Amino acid sequence: MADSKLPMPVPDEKSMPFYEGAKRHELVLQRCKTCGSFMWPVKLRCDVCLNNDIEWAKVSGKGKLYSFAIMHQVYHPGFTDKVPYNVATVELEQGIRIVSNVVDCPNSALSVDMPLEVTFEKLSDEVTIPKFKPGG
Ligand SMILES: [Zn+2]
Repeated sequence: MADSKLPMPVPDEKSMPFYEGAKRHELVLQRCKTCGSFMWPVKLRCDVCLNNDIEWAKVSGKGKLYSFAIMHQVYHPGFTDKVPYNVATVELEQGIRIVSNVVDCPNSALSVDMPLEVTFEKLSDEVTIPKFKPGG
């Protein structure tokens, strides 16, 4: 269960589709309607073609571990009982990278390029966030 002391993301108008998708246990990301590129984090226009005609699209949530670090230092009191924990950069099938955590896997078993798939963690009634677990 979520620790209420943890810092919480605050969805805003632009990021709301991402959080609404997460509540449904769907990973939804922005996609450029002109060139098809996916983007993250939330943006106003496409990095590739600069078009601002953007839609939200559900993705598979499959990817691989691109890089990770193990955090031992407590930078926020909410993480006191979490250390050591991993911070992972996950490269999705769509080629974009998202920073998250790998769960259901001991830190000692983390390995670059290991296949991952999305899972979801409910932090509050308003906020559910994607995490990643071994699989894919
Ligand atoms: Zn584009």
